[in-house]
Amino acid sequence: MHSENDAEIAVAGAGAFGLAVALRLARAGRSVTIIDPAPPGDNASGVAAGMLAPVSEALFDPISRDHLALMRRARDLWPDFAQNLRIPLSRAGVRFEGSDAWRAEVAKRLEQLGVAPAQTLDEDWRLEARTALAMLRAAAQEAGVAFKTGAVAAFEPGALTLVDGRVETFDLLVLATGPGVRDGRIAPETSALAPIKGQLLRTPALDDEALVVRGEGVYLAPGEALAIGATMEAGRDDLAPDASATQALRRAALALRPSLDLEGATVEVGVRATTPDGLPLVGWSRTPGIMLAVGARRNGWLFAPLVADMVAAYLTGDNPGPEAAAFDPRRFEKA
Ligand SMILES: Cc1cc2nc3c(=O)[nH]c(=O)nc-3n(C[C@H](O)[C@H](O)[C@H](O)COP(=O)(O)OP(=O)(O)OC[C@H]3O[C@@H](n4cnc5c(N)ncnc54)[C@H](O)[C@@H]3O)c2cc1C
Repeated sequence: MHSENDAEIAVAGAGAFGLAVALRLARAGRSVTIIDPAPPGDNASGVAAGMLAPVSEALFDPISRDHLALMRRARDLWPDFAQNLRIPLSRAGVRFEGSDAWRAEVAKRLEQLGVAPAQTLDEDWRLEARTALAMLRAAAQEAGVAFKTGAVAAFEPGALTLVDGRVETFDLLVLATGPGVRDGRIAPETSALAPIKGQLLRTPALDDEALVVRGEGVYLAPGEALAIGATMEAGRDDLAPDASATQALRRAALALRPSLDLEGATVEVGVRATTPDGLPLVGWSRTPGIMLAVGARRNGWLFAPLVADMVAAYLTGDNPGPEAAAFDPRRFEKA
């Protein structure tokens, strides 16, 4: 059944992963339905700052230090992907701002990564996450993807059960539920996932700066509003804004831009799903008929086109490409 072209495919989750996968499959002529309990954009993908930032992620998220080459390959799929969907992509880059000591440390770490130290790099790009999500959704609809409201509770080929007890007929399930399915539920591999709550502040920008600014303990990402982010609260999966957690962000942002007025800033909260090595789970589950596309950590937008290509390759029996082993959903199983 796995590589049959007429299979009815359910994609659980309408975040960046689920939408990119569904679009890719529908354009390849597959019959696809997205199932999600939340309103459009009400997920981490909608909250995200939209940075496609291999260098900054390798620099500032220790778990991603060894993934620079892989993240660059993922980023390099974006120009074609974005152009096809008419998603505006900012390639202005990133600037590092801070004390001399901090900038010297950044320069040292850039060298260790094999990147020529500079205060400004044009390697890291950006998009407007909520806009991109809406455009992906519209493209998926246009390509024939059906959308249903519901939360997937269980699956076996031919029977997808929703939490309200409804049973629908689907042959394959792509699990793209972000942090929503964990602890081995639905597919045993999801027991490798853990939540990381993330809060960011949004406030009107001071100027029309196009670069992302990275400072000590904070980034300022331009866009429709300036995104000041982001907290990393490991083990938490609640969506409550929490002023004590965002205090450090406020202080760090004001150290960079003292004239920012953060009194009226809004707080947005999302939950990322991570694996122990920071890379997603993409590939077949041990549970028959389930394909995994979860565990994007801080890079769901960066990885979305790559993950969509990989899922499409797995479903057609094609070679999923050079990232297959790094993303293997079974890599955390005890021998
Ligand atoms: C503050 C913050 C800033 C970020 N900034 C960036 C950034 O700059 N660049 C970047 O690349 N990434 C960033 N990220 C990370 C990025 O948002 C995530 O990696 C990405 O959104 C994950 O996409 P996803 O589709 O896997 O999951 P999600 O966007 O979480 O979507 C999962 C969907 O699954 C649905 N779902 C859950 N359970 C079920 C179920 N049982 N059945 C059906 N549907 C279900 C949910 O309702 C949800 O809509 C940021 C995250 C946060 C929180």
